[in-house]
Amino acid sequence: MTMTRESAHEIAGRLAPDGLAFIDGRFAPASDGATFETINPATGGVITHVAHCGTADVDRAVRAARKAFDSGVWSRAAPEYRKEVLLRLAELVRTNRDELAVLESIDSGKTITDCLHEIGREVPNFFQWYGELADKSFGKVAPTGENALALIVKEPAGVVGLVLPWNFPLLMAAWKAAPALAAGCSVLIKPAEQTPLSILRLAKLAQEAGLPDGVLNVLPGLGETTGQAIGRHPDIDIVSFTGSTEVGGYFLRYAGESNLKVVGLEMGGKSPFIILDDAAITDDLIEHAAMSAFWNGGQNCSANMRQLVVRRLAEEFAHRVTARAQAFRVGDPLDPATNIGAMVTKEHQTRVMGYIATGAAEGARLLTGGDTSGPGYFIQPTVFADMTPTMSIAREEIFGPVLGILPVDGMEEALRIAGDTDYGLHATVFTRDIDRAIHMARRLPCGTVSVNGFSEGDVKTPFGGYKRSGSLARDNGTEAMDQYLQTKTIWIATAQPAVP
Ligand code: NDP
Repeated sequence: MTMTRESAHEIAGRLAPDGLAFIDGRFAPASDGATFETINPATGGVITHVAHCGTADVDRAVRAARKAFDSGVWSRAAPEYRKEVLLRLAELVRTNRDELAVLESIDSGKTITDCLHEIGREVPNFFQWYGELADKSFGKVAPTGENALALIVKEPAGVVGLVLPWNFPLLMAAWKAAPALAAGCSVLIKPAEQTPLSILRLAKLAQEAGLPDGVLNVLPGLGETTGQAIGRHPDIDIVSFTGSTEVGGYFLRYAGESNLKVVGLEMGGKSPFIILDDAAITDDLIEHAAMSAFWNGGQNCSANMRQLVVRRLAEEFAHRVTARAQAFRVGDPLDPATNIGAMVTKEHQTRVMGYIATGAAEGARLLTGGDTSGPGYFIQPTVFADMTPTMSIAREEIFGPVLGILPVDGMEEALRIAGDTDYGLHATVFTRDIDRAIHMARRLPCGTVSVNGFSEGDVKTPFGGYKRSGSLARDNGTEAMDQYLQTKTIWIATAQPAVP
């Protein structure tokens, strides 16, 4: 069915999420009955009250996850079985696409168009791709003399905590849970407090798909309680986290002060979009520049907010990207005609507006945007020209629809400014010269470089950051599954058999 504004609102009207936690195959309130509100950012209204899981709930979930893991019901099951369950889950997500997408949209403020794309295509694709990988991952045999046979095998790492952000709720759950489950781990998911609802619904679908009790648990709650309890739990083997650099640091501390669990971090960014002087300012380039900054309302860790443009092209680029920014429709996220929905919370809207005020105060030239509208938490796409490398809007992660144009004097200056940041997640380069493209791709200190088009890659390509954007861990690709596997060497002494 094609989604219309009316049908989306009709679905939203009949959704009745109960906000219960999912532990050991059962939906239940927090053990102490605590709850928190989840708000629709497009209206400011309360959607429902959600279980606020405390230390006792996390502990119960870890015990269930460990029991399931030790029983081997999933961890030692035939990989074909894990594949079948994950493929069924992919199919169930597809068949429940419309309700999941509307739920995601009202909980996060994301547009229904983006939610339909993420939930109709990307989320199931992740469960399918890693499900398919489950029975196609081979070990190795090391070269030895005839006195030994040395096998290098992979085993599931154990109980994994997945702590998620709010900007791509169900997609981030799939990015992390799909490879962890395919590897045979048991999983606890802590959704961001702003966006728990689609992930709780995913738990129900995973159960319907046949995932054994205890293998997947969803613990909604606040970072300082639920997140910290996961970070400090002595029986969790791995935490994979996506969110701010500050909180990523907390997880390293929690691990150091508890059981030295492995911590995989995917954090913030301040990514450059670089236009060299041989590039042509085409409609395609402008589309990529605008989408790299304004997609998901700029609430994206790889958003290309620093647009470094050779001085000769800077005015033409500014003029055209401003016109494109003005064409975005901001408003009701449930309307398929909307391009940018609401900021995730009132606090976040205020924070982004603070950066816009700072940009103007520090001398950047406001070309468009900078306005809010209500009652939801909306911000018009905003473009600044004449940004300089030392301005706050050029250095700090804004996480909102604020594009800054910084004129540069050539490739080497672009490289120097692009790398002059604590972050290193992503970069885009536009050039028609293959040698320059390769030079830039090799020199830019970040996890993904995208040439002549903004892209984060896809399920097949690893995604993660250099410097304070990440740890060595990578989401996506076969690398993501490696995060959730341990390597074991089995050395078998052999002897020549006696000749009969
Ligand atoms: P956080 O890093 O605060 O949150 C990410 C996750 O960590 C959430 O599940 C959160 O729970 C949890 N968390 C928060 N505090 C703690 C804690 N003390 N101990 C354990 N877990 C914790 O990101 P925010 O959502 O607050 O966003 C703030 C900024 O982070 C954004 O403006 C943006 O700059 C950046 N960010 C980056 C993202 C990325 O994709 N790399 C994604 C989201 C944000 P809770 O939801 O309850 O706070």
